[in-house]
Amino acid sequence: MAYSASMIIDGSAVGSSSGDTFESVNPFDSEVWATVPAGTATDVDAAVGAARAAAKSWGRTPGVERGRLMRALGEAIRRDAEQLAQWESTDNGKVIRETRTQMQFLARNLDFFAGSADKLFGSSIPLDNPRILDYTVRRPYGVAALITAWNSPLALLGNKLPPALAAGNTVVIKPSEHASVTTTELGRLALEVGFPPGVVNVVTGDSVVGEALTSHPGVDKISFTGGGPAGRRVAENAAARFVPVTLELGGKSPNIIFADADLERAVAGAVSGIFAAAGQTCIAGSRLLVERPVYEQVIDAVAQRARAIRLGDPRDPATQMGPVANEPQFERIARLLESAGSAGRVVTGGGAAHVSGAPKGFFVEPTVIADVDPASTIAREEIFGPVLSIMPFDSDDEAIERANDSEQGLAGGVWTRDLNRALRMADELEAGVVWVNTYRTSAAQAPFGGTKRSGYGRERGIEALDDYLFTKNIMIDTSDEVRDPFMIRT
Ligand code: NDP
Repeated sequence: MAYSASMIIDGSAVGSSSGDTFESVNPFDSEVWATVPAGTATDVDAAVGAARAAAKSWGRTPGVERGRLMRALGEAIRRDAEQLAQWESTDNGKVIRETRTQMQFLARNLDFFAGSADKLFGSSIPLDNPRILDYTVRRPYGVAALITAWNSPLALLGNKLPPALAAGNTVVIKPSEHASVTTTELGRLALEVGFPPGVVNVVTGDSVVGEALTSHPGVDKISFTGGGPAGRRVAENAAARFVPVTLELGGKSPNIIFADADLERAVAGAVSGIFAAAGQTCIAGSRLLVERPVYEQVIDAVAQRARAIRLGDPRDPATQMGPVANEPQFERIARLLESAGSAGRVVTGGGAAHVSGAPKGFFVEPTVIADVDPASTIAREEIFGPVLSIMPFDSDDEAIERANDSEQGLAGGVWTRDLNRALRMADELEAGVVWVNTYRTSAAQAPFGGTKRSGYGRERGIEALDDYLFTKNIMIDTSDEVRDPFMIRT
């Protein structure tokens, strides 16, 4: 029997005001496995109204109490982690070994920000005029709209929800129509552990819901993860009402292997960078730059690892790569792969994969393309699939130049045993995140986000709180002086 999801609005599990639903398809077998309410602008209005009504009280709730509820939500997620992971793997095809980890990561982020909810300190500032007492307080914006993509619904939400709640904002969450179920479950868990009605709302639906939410006059802050075109619309809607926005838009990240690197680790890092999650991560190391002396050796080793990847049911713990998340994405990757042969030398893969037991699964072969033309679409566009472009370089300067030859700047990896080289690369890479001798490593404490066209604002780390708070400055004149009304007081 299909799973039946509900939205969460004002403390209740509800269907769409229109009564309509849409179907969520399991990308492993193309079967409908869940029905989800097709939210409307009316539902968005109700959710934002509920969030507004709850905002003042939630924003004034002592941080220690906000933190307590957040920790309780983290515990509930840990309790239900296996079920949530199973649902998420069914919904978007991400392998269970990763979705299990992601549930723990979400709970860890809730713990981290729960600990900051009672530490939103302002400061006392000594001014030139000692008779004026100046201090700051940090206040929540009010209602935050949190929009996530289908590749990792709860992990992406784990970057947004904890700092938003810790800062004292109420939220309206919109997951992608392609993978909504676990987000509705999270909304249900928030109610179960005692979050007051209206603090955590979830509205499901397509871009109509996203448009209604980001243009709603009751929204005070927006955080978005997804692609460039939708990100631009979100930013336009935010700009129309001067609403602050955080954008996490993905990348075309370079992973750079120098000849002096520990090649076994570097190759494993390259494989993890592009084939984990079937390449559907914003931080995918989709451009592998390899120093000439080890170029062919690395190509061979990566291709060998790629050919050996176990494709299969994402809910099977032995599976290393599942299908891509949905049919539009499958078709988009297929279209991009049509130009693979003209962009470079296809070493392995290059098309749809046929997996036994899954004739209708959206599987793509782990694909390695060497000698890729840096000007080609394959080298420049985010494919969001298991497609690796490999290019050689001859010097540190050339590595930096090639790595930075991208409109995007989310992440970058460097593999070397030379400390000075590592430091220089870390300094010069135009990216919000640099990994040295590792790739795809995350921590609740470490700020994450992009530069250039990968977006702006930061998630995770203490910096993330800044995105959900504004600073209020307060001045108190403690003198008895009667001021000259025509002069600015200093
Ligand atoms: P989108 O950017 O279209 O979707 C991201 C989220 O935004 C979804 O919840 C989506 O809803 C919503 N949305 C879509 N249009 C609007 C709008 N006009 N206003 C407000 N919200 C909107 O991503 P896709 O899923 O289509 O993926 C396209 C590309 O984006 C990928 O190929 C990849 O390059 C990139 N991407 C990047 C991710 C990252 O982690 N940075 C994650 C996923 C994708 P709905 O899905 O219901 O339409």
